[in-house]
Amino acid sequence: MKKYIFYLLFSLICASTTAQGQPEFDLVLSGGRVMDPETGLDAIRNVGISGNKIAAISTGALRGKRVLDVTGKVVSPGFIDLHVHGVSNTEQEYQLHDGLTTALELEWGIGPLKAWYAQRKSNALINYGASVCWPYERFRALEKFREQAEQLKESSRLEPYTLINTIKQITPSYTEVPDDSEMRQTLKNIEESLQAGGIGIGIPIGYLPQTNPTELYEVYKMAGGSDALLFTHVRTPDMSGLQEAFSNAILTRAPLHIVHLNSMALGNIELALNMLKDATSQGHRITSEVYPYTAASTALESAMFDPGWQQRLGMSYEDLQWVATGERLNKDTYEAYRKKGGVVIMHMMQPEWIKTGLRAEGIAVASDGMMYAPLAHPRTAGTFTRVLGKYVREDQALDLMTALKKMTLIPARILEDIAPAMSQKGRLQEGADADITVFDPATVSDQATFEGGLEFSKGVTYVLVGGALVLDQGNTVPNLYPGQPIYGKFRE
Ligand SMILES: [Zn+2]
Repeated sequence: MKKYIFYLLFSLICASTTAQGQPEFDLVLSGGRVMDPETGLDAIRNVGISGNKIAAISTGALRGKRVLDVTGKVVSPGFIDLHVHGVSNTEQEYQLHDGLTTALELEWGIGPLKAWYAQRKSNALINYGASVCWPYERFRALEKFREQAEQLKESSRLEPYTLINTIKQITPSYTEVPDDSEMRQTLKNIEESLQAGGIGIGIPIGYLPQTNPTELYEVYKMAGGSDALLFTHVRTPDMSGLQEAFSNAILTRAPLHIVHLNSMALGNIELALNMLKDATSQGHRITSEVYPYTAASTALESAMFDPGWQQRLGMSYEDLQWVATGERLNKDTYEAYRKKGGVVIMHMMQPEWIKTGLRAEGIAVASDGMMYAPLAHPRTAGTFTRVLGKYVREDQALDLMTALKKMTLIPARILEDIAPAMSQKGRLQEGADADITVFDPATVSDQATFEGGLEFSKGVTYVLVGGALVLDQGNTVPNLYPGQPIYGKFRE
C-alpha cells in the first residue's frame, strides 16, 4: 500500500491546481457504482484520473478537464484475459468492446517473441503480452528442423503471429525425441526468450501429446528452479492428463496455471477443483481458469484429432462445426478438411460443468479467444460480458463482485509474481493503473453466437487503458493505441 500512497502524492502534484486550490484531474468518472474486489468497496464514488493512474476516489465532487457522468453504471478495474490467441488489433477491438484492458497469449505463447513485442509497440488498443512458446523453442533446437525453423522465423515477420500459423509449421516435429544437446538447446532457447520478456512458459502438451515424459519433466524442473510460471493445456482431456500436470508441478515446485479447466476436466470438473483446492491449501502454486461456453475450438489438423479422438473427447463428427462455413461435419467432410487444415468448434461440454467451474473459488475467467474469422467461436468476442449478462444477471449463478474478481483481481494475482506490472492492475484503488471498464449492469451482454458469428458485445460504455479513453460511449476511439507491453520479470 505504501507505493500507492507515493503514487497518490505524485499524482496530486501532477494534477494541475485551480485558483480555488482544488486539483483538476485529467478525467473524472462521476457518480458511478465503484467496485473493487480487493478492498470490497462497492459504493457510489467519483474517480479522478491523472496521467495513467487513478489519483482519487472520493464521495466529494472532483474537478476534471473532462467529466463523464457514469450514474447507474458500474466502474470496475479493466478486465484481464490470461488466454487469447487473437493478438492483433482486429481481435483486440472485439476484446475492447467486451471490457478488456489487458489480453495475453499465455497458453501457446509466441515465437519469435522479441520480434512480436517490437511489432506491437505503440500500436495496440489494449495491453498485450505473451509467454515463451515451448513448442517453438524445441522446434528450433531440433537439428532436423533447423532450416524450417529459420523459414518460420522469417515468415513470422510478415504474417500475423497466430497459434494456427505456428501449429501448421511445427506439427512435423511432434514425434521427435530431442537428444541431450538438443534438450540443452531447448532450455537455452527458453531462457533467452524469457530474457526477451516472455511471461513464463507456455507448455501446451495437449498439442504435442507424444512428447516424452522426460523431456516435459526437464521443462518443469527448469521452471521450478527459476520460478517461472508455466501455462499448460494438459496432455489429454481427462484425469490422467491433469494428474501428470499436478505431479510434475508439485515435485519440481514449478508454479503452474492450468488453462480452460472446463475442457480439460470435462465431467470430472468437481474432482479437478477439489485437487486444486488441496494443492493450494498445501502451499503449491497451482491455478486455473474457465470460459463460459459449452463448446471448445481448435485447429482440425492438430494432434487433438489424431486417431481415437472420438473416444478421447467423447464426440463424433456432427459435434464438429467448421468455422469457415458454419456447417456440421460428417466423415467425408471431416477427412477433407483435416487434410486442408482450419479451425473447428467442438460442441462437447454440459452446461452444469461450466456453472460449477465459474462458481469455484479462485478460478479466473479467461476466453481462449481465437483468431478473427466471421464465424469464429463466440468466446473470441463475448466471454466477459457473457459472464456478467447470462451468468450473473440472468441465471444468478454468481454475484457481481465475485464475477468481477474473477476477471480482474484473480488474473492479476496469478500473474504478479512473474509479471510485476500486474500488481498495479486488477484493482480500483488510488495509485493503481487507470485501466478501467465502465458498464451498464442492466444491459451488459454478449452478442456473438455460434450461428451468427462475431459481434461486438453490448453494454460496455467506457474503457480506459492507462488513463486513455479508448472506448467512448460504446464506440472505439479512432487512431488511439494506448496498449502497453506486459513483460515477464526475467526481461533484460
Ligand atoms: Zn487450449
